[in-house]
Amino acid sequence: MAAMAARSADTVVVVGLGVIGLSTALALARRGVRVVGVDRFGSGDARTSSTGLSRSIRVAYAIPEYARLATEALDRWAQLEARGTRPIMHLTGQVDLAAPATLAGLAGGLGAAGAAYEELGAADIRRRLPGIVVGDDATGIFHPRAGTVVADAGMAALASAAVAAGAELRAPEGVVAVEAAAGGVRVTTGAGTIAADRAVIAAGPWTGELVGPLGLDLPLAPALAQVTYFDVPELVGMPAIAEWGADDGGGVYGHPVPGVGYKLGFDAAGDDPWNPEAAPAPDPAEQERLEGWARERLPGLAGRALRSDRHPWTMTPDGDFTIGSLGPITIAAGCSGHAFKFGPALGELVADTSDGTPRPAAAMFALDRPALAGPAPAPSTPINR
Ligand SMILES: Cc1cc2nc3c(=O)[nH]c(=O)nc-3n(C[C@H](O)[C@H](O)[C@H](O)COP(=O)(O)OP(=O)(O)OC[C@H]3O[C@@H](n4cnc5c(N)ncnc54)[C@H](O)[C@@H]3O)c2cc1C
Repeated sequence: MAAMAARSADTVVVVGLGVIGLSTALALARRGVRVVGVDRFGSGDARTSSTGLSRSIRVAYAIPEYARLATEALDRWAQLEARGTRPIMHLTGQVDLAAPATLAGLAGGLGAAGAAYEELGAADIRRRLPGIVVGDDATGIFHPRAGTVVADAGMAALASAAVAAGAELRAPEGVVAVEAAAGGVRVTTGAGTIAADRAVIAAGPWTGELVGPLGLDLPLAPALAQVTYFDVPELVGMPAIAEWGADDGGGVYGHPVPGVGYKLGFDAAGDDPWNPEAAPAPDPAEQERLEGWARERLPGLAGRALRSDRHPWTMTPDGDFTIGSLGPITIAAGCSGHAFKFGPALGELVADTSDGTPRPAAAMFALDRPALAGPAPAPSTPINR
């Protein structure tokens, strides 16, 4: 093993360079901190959560803190897009189909964030989503601050901005242990030991194995979620969609994917066990079930499925993220299937948490909140945010 590196002032090691770790590395580096980011596989590897072409983004959250965080994220993604060469956002708006009580919650969050929305009856839904099949009693809302994050472009932009701000990003290099040490932390990797002032553990589904030795037994449930791409380039200008409560309550979401067409997925993972070492193979039965939904709701997609991809996410018991510090070690995990959109805004929040700067929005992510005192949820628990 390499000799222990000399420690310089105000160094933070970021363990895991998915969207949360990269965003945190960027935020910290911009604050003048020396950042060393380390990833076992490399950002965006097919075994991780932050992989693939696209993610949905929306301000419409019933919890105002999320709506405000999404608004900040939209601005920060736009700034990253402006300094690069690839489009990161494709905002065509989103139509949410749901019962009036659910829509009222989403409208409340949009209102709190100062975002526009329009209430829809069945005729308006058909106008906004040409080809959709809904009953005459259908209700929905349309909100324009929504659509698609081009995920691979976003990841590349975060990495290049972090490096430009001075961060050192290392991969592939696995971290074996993160420990508090005199006046700071000691991070042991496959290549040696890094002495630093602080560490941030943003290891996605692998977080449990790194925080367990710190005495933290977090109820995190890694799970395998699938999405299906459809070869319908003519629909690339269509709004995103969310049908809350579809598929026996789990829900279905979708959005346009530039260069491909449209993507759909269930708001719940399957029950198959997660294998930390392997990229998951797609499940043809889940694709067939999703195509069944498309045949009923968006028949223009029928017979146009291109392929499905399956990746891990990490559910918490309440669907909220897990962000907090144990002394000099900050944990940022429990993405609950909906964290990508918040990337650069979450990075600032995690950096504030590591710096010890109070953020009221961080309370709902706290490590000592009651929901984290109970058991882990079933992996197939639907996203409820
Ligand atoms: C199919 C699917 C669809 C989704 N759709 C949406 C969506 O539409 N909108 C949305 O907002 N979100 C969506 N999400 C959720 C979003 O992608 C995740 O919340 C987000 O990517 C989580 O990022 P992360 O950084 O926490 O985890 P990861 O991306 O998994 O990053 C963790 C990193 O840690 C590294 N690592 C692990 N162990 C170690 C170690 N010991 N040493 C060093 N490095 C280590 C890994 O290699 C990995 O790169 C979706 C997720 C999936 C799977």
